[in-house]
Amino acid sequence: MSLTPMMKQYFEIKENHRDSILFFRLGDFYEMFFDDAIIASRELEIALTGRDCGLKDKAPMCGVPYHSADSYIAKLIEKGYKVAICEQIEDPAKAVGIVKRDVVRVVTPGTIIDSNVLDDKKNNYLCCIYMNEKGFGIAYTDVSTGDFFTTEKSDENGDIISPLFDELGKILPTEIICNTHLYENTSLTMKIKQRFNCMINEFHQWVFDFDFSKESIKRQLSVVNLNGLGLEDKDYSVVASGALIEYLRETQKISLNHINKITQYSSKNFMTLDINTRRNLELTETIRGNVKKGSLLWVLDKTSTAMGGRLLKKWIEEPLLSRKDIENRLSIVEYLTQNIMLINDIRLLLKEVYDIERLMSKIIFGTCNARDLISLKNSIKTFPQIKELLSSLDCEELLNISLNIDGLEDIYMLIQNSILDEPPFSVREGGLIKDDFNTEIKSLREASAKGKEWLSKLEESEKTKTGIKNLKVGFNKIFGYYIEVSKSNIKFAPDYFIRKQTLANSERYITPELKEIEDKILGAEDKMIALEYEIFVSIRDKIASEVKRIQDDSKVIAQIDALNSLALTAYNNNYIKPKINSNGIIKIKDGKHPVVEKVLEEGLFVPNDTLLSNEENRVLVITGPNMAGKSTYMRQVALIVLMMQIGSFVPAEEADICIVDRIFTRIGASDDLSQGQSTFMVEMSEVANILNNATKDSLLILDEIGRGTSTYDGLSIAWAVIEYISDNNKIGAKTLFATHYHELTELEDRLSGVVNYKILVQEKGEDIIFLRKIQKGGADRSYGIEVAKLAGVSSDVINRAYELLNELEKRDINKSEIALSSRERPKTSKDKNSLQLDFFSVKERNIIEKLKSIDVANLTPIDAINILYKLSKES
Ligand code: ADP
Repeated sequence: MSLTPMMKQYFEIKENHRDSILFFRLGDFYEMFFDDAIIASRELEIALTGRDCGLKDKAPMCGVPYHSADSYIAKLIEKGYKVAICEQIEDPAKAVGIVKRDVVRVVTPGTIIDSNVLDDKKNNYLCCIYMNEKGFGIAYTDVSTGDFFTTEKSDENGDIISPLFDELGKILPTEIICNTHLYENTSLTMKIKQRFNCMINEFHQWVFDFDFSKESIKRQLSVVNLNGLGLEDKDYSVVASGALIEYLRETQKISLNHINKITQYSSKNFMTLDINTRRNLELTETIRGNVKKGSLLWVLDKTSTAMGGRLLKKWIEEPLLSRKDIENRLSIVEYLTQNIMLINDIRLLLKEVYDIERLMSKIIFGTCNARDLISLKNSIKTFPQIKELLSSLDCEELLNISLNIDGLEDIYMLIQNSILDEPPFSVREGGLIKDDFNTEIKSLREASAKGKEWLSKLEESEKTKTGIKNLKVGFNKIFGYYIEVSKSNIKFAPDYFIRKQTLANSERYITPELKEIEDKILGAEDKMIALEYEIFVSIRDKIASEVKRIQDDSKVIAQIDALNSLALTAYNNNYIKPKINSNGIIKIKDGKHPVVEKVLEEGLFVPNDTLLSNEENRVLVITGPNMAGKSTYMRQVALIVLMMQIGSFVPAEEADICIVDRIFTRIGASDDLSQGQSTFMVEMSEVANILNNATKDSLLILDEIGRGTSTYDGLSIAWAVIEYISDNNKIGAKTLFATHYHELTELEDRLSGVVNYKILVQEKGEDIIFLRKIQKGGADRSYGIEVAKLAGVSSDVINRAYELLNELEKRDINKSEIALSSRERPKTSKDKNSLQLDFFSVKERNIIEKLKSIDVANLTPIDAINILYKLSKES
């Protein structure tokens, strides 16, 4: 037995797409066979059947109708598969033997362009990483918009993994391809997969070659050399970009003309934020639930267009470092906030603008319909108006932006003159092109209209001739035009009526005259449909050739939209324009957390001041009970700084802020827990990352460091971390450090730059009231039991806890009295009735224990001196 010819063809094609599910076009269906069918039927919950394939057993098979394939493809992609779409590539009617078929596109998570699947206000990035021992290059693109970026990092001796993770944490690609060197490092690829929840695959090794990549880029961008692209000396970026272009070529099979620019950037242009910090600060989505609602983006996003929404998200992900660029954005926002009418006028215009970036990629892919062109027309109609509005303003920065708007009047006129205002969804059934656009269309349409007139005349004349009053001319796809006569009148049908079809209550006939008219009508209609499609395609291609101009405009529109959104948010929320200083000071009066303030009822959020500087107020040690508002306060400071650096106004009465190079956070448990690391281990590796990478220009938010281990260990680590961070010779970064360990308030007296702050609570009998106000000084109690009571822990447990606390306090005081000499007792008054074991008592107690354990009778004088020497070093 041997395979049928069709199955042979199937296997030949499948051979080249082993890692994809092959959608094999058979008539009106895409069929899947063998393992693909088994997987797809399970994942898509569709019936698994069998088909003769020439072998003894039937081939497992399942299928989906071609017109609804998109939703099935999307489902498979979402579940982590790739789908190769195999079409019939010749007309079956004209085919000799088996119809030729080939894969026309491979859909992967990073290349999907179906607008039903993509989030309007989010880019979908496909990313390529080229890595060796010394560095890496990353290139990433959004195929649905044509954006293409690349960056690299090389460091002979340094760490390249954390910069790689920082970059990926910003991009959050849905799919990564990489070279063999990276792919073979399975623990790293596993980590990438888990951390960023994306597909990662190896791509052909030979593609990651400098000369090959250079040629790929040149071909894609239609340039003769790479000069002027910012890729000089950027070999990693060149290789990553070239490999990415090759992957697109292999999977998309058509030339992607909308990818016509590669933006090379250095991470030095933007504030670096690691993935934990992005998550902890809930920049674009919340930690719990991963939703936009409740994030900074949620508060700031008042954009009117999808492009503006995506850009604003990118701005939040890439805070600026250049004072000039920040000030440029700030001054536009300031100008706009002064005139709410203007903000609204701009919004009204922008509301008319569709997602033309994604529309353009549909045009390039040839998947757009006439309605899309109408959407494009309606969008660009507003461009001259926006240009005029901005250029009439007394704002130089907006004037400069307006100069970049191309009115695109020619494209508007092309669509306006050619495409009917309300075309049908399908482009293959006519009704697309305006009469006046093409004389042939006009005459064909007249012919068809005339034919219809003839038909109604014929109907009338047959009624008169036959006397059958209810005789009707109708149409169906199988018999074409016919004359229908009801059962009761059949006897009156004349001889020249030729019977065609018998129905329950009527007969259908044709006549030679009717068929003659039909030929004319249908001939004209067929011709017209074909011609309309041809004209549509030529208009589509003409617009596709102008892709660069339209893309450039959409970038400008996005920029205006994002700035206008920042202005509207500032106006609505009474934000103020922050001042920028270069002397390392962060001074905020009545600052608020932008999100918590919004979530709470109006007026309930208690504003707080902040002062951080390079000198006296470098490290703030913040104490206060759980729930007092420590995390909220610290995040608020980080968010205000970050907002300033994206060019946004900030929630405060006054703010004078220096630009920070990085914000680091160490807050709560992170998702590495799922990878089998303990909370403490995760915490410490994050601390290590901060200590290794923070500079004196960084802002550090550290919440409860050392909590994950025993009190003494934790306290010692926290203590040492503060010492290291506050030391100007080591890091000297501005830091907010929240802690439970009251002992750390000691550091204020010991280290320069460290200051104590506490968040106030008021005691009321056994209850406490949170005042949410921050003030200088250290907290003296942790109020853990009071907070437990507030949380609803039963009174039995609460009372027992008070009893135990009393016991422990007594025991602790007794122990301390034995262990400590009065000289070394901590100086702060709170420690007289310290609720936790004293930090300094530990060392001393250790020394006493060691002294006790010495066998003095058998000790030589030298040993004694050595021991004394060691002990004196420990104390
Ligand atoms: P902590 O970190 O001290 O345990 P949080 O910062 O988590 O406390 O704050 C606990 C809750 O208190 C928050 O969910 C918030 O609703 C409220 N809160 C915090 N700060 C303020 C504030 N300044 N004004 C009003 N409510 C606040």
